[in-house]
Amino acid sequence: MELTLLGTAGPKGWPQPFCTCASCLGCTGPAVRGPACVLLDGTLLLDCGPEPAHAAARAGYPLTGVRRLLLSGPAEAAPLAWLPAAGLDEVAAPSAPPAWLPAPAAGGPGWRRVAAGDTFEVDGRRIRVLPGGTPGRVAYEVIGADGTRLLYVPPSTLPPEAEAGRAWTRGGGHYDVVLLDVVSWPERLATLRRDGAVTEDTDVLAIHLSHESPPGEELHRRLAAWGARAVPDGGLVRVGADPSPAPRPHRTLVLGGARSGKSAEAERRLAACPDVLYVATGGTREGDPEWAERVALHRDRRPDTWSTAETVELTGLLAEARRPLLVDCLSLWLTAVMDAHGAWDDDAWADGGAREAVRADVAALAAAWRACRVPVVGVSNEVGSGVVPATPAGRRFRDELGRLNATIAAESDEVLLVVAGQALTLRSLPSRAKHAAP
Ligand SMILES: [Zn+2]
Repeated sequence: MELTLLGTAGPKGWPQPFCTCASCLGCTGPAVRGPACVLLDGTLLLDCGPEPAHAAARAGYPLTGVRRLLLSGPAEAAPLAWLPAAGLDEVAAPSAPPAWLPAPAAGGPGWRRVAAGDTFEVDGRRIRVLPGGTPGRVAYEVIGADGTRLLYVPPSTLPPEAEAGRAWTRGGGHYDVVLLDVVSWPERLATLRRDGAVTEDTDVLAIHLSHESPPGEELHRRLAAWGARAVPDGGLVRVGADPSPAPRPHRTLVLGGARSGKSAEAERRLAACPDVLYVATGGTREGDPEWAERVALHRDRRPDTWSTAETVELTGLLAEARRPLLVDCLSLWLTAVMDAHGAWDDDAWADGGAREAVRADVAALAAAWRACRVPVVGVSNEVGSGVVPATPAGRRFRDELGRLNATIAAESDEVLLVVAGQALTLRSLPSRAKHAAP
């Protein structure tokens, strides 16, 4: 199966016309994306609008070979003057045929009004209509003559419904390629993973991108963490022939100052994982309502499917973990380690063995971090750029935290520094060019 991604944006494209937001103003040249439209093997079109015709021409497809059109929802686009009335054998849509499409010729092909649960066959491909997650929209499963399995999910303005997620995975087996709005709803990808519809072999392609998506390299970095990728408009994807998806980061360290957005960034990186253990190292701090409120806010932000452990026994946890871990945060872990060894006391630090004990714990943590077999994301505070702490103990903590961060960073595939909500990549896996633009 060969896919040409004629458009990869949401219904209004990216940039949106006349929008002055930072994302749209920064979206120029090859970054420009038209409304989602995917051409299968030159003959079947998934969704359409006027813009894809130009995209098709640019990609070298005049669309004259297209015989079938599958629409996933109401077409908001303008008239398709270029679509040959007699050229289409069939148009399938979940709602009334859009007025802008030419009427089918008398005695010729018809409209097929589709609803979730329908199955039909076109040119040797088996099509299954699935719930789109939003009224009036449908998703399509396409099984090619060669057995290739594709899932195409329409744009949605609603959160994922568990029902829709389950319906997409019914029928067994994993998909070879999945096209969905992974930027808006990474948890949908988590659902598909949980149910076995998406595996490490699935090529997950981001569509319905919009000015809500992060601009530039940030988009690709975020998608890579979710095991997905974005192809430029006009990009060609040969299912099964492309190299396997780029490896996802295994160990990630997210650094940042207070309220920098580092915890949100760390959580986002695991958003497409169905089953994450969130490790809170801060404890409960009895009698501190402000701390309790912070903890509650963090917990509300996390998906329901995640579980939480409140512990500072990180070394053992890293060794035994069987599902992805999010550790928030390493600076509180260091505080607990210094507490345990009496390291705040100047004499204990100087010649009471506290220094050696703390550093041995840090070395053990680094070894466990290196050996950890599941994806792990750690959060830590970046300190030392501001005021010098007034006390020796304060300066000691600052210095030891700097050492801890450097040690864990050295054992991580990816290191990010979050400043003012913006993630700066300090270290990353080498990217692998996977798609070929025509
Ligand atoms: Zn915009």
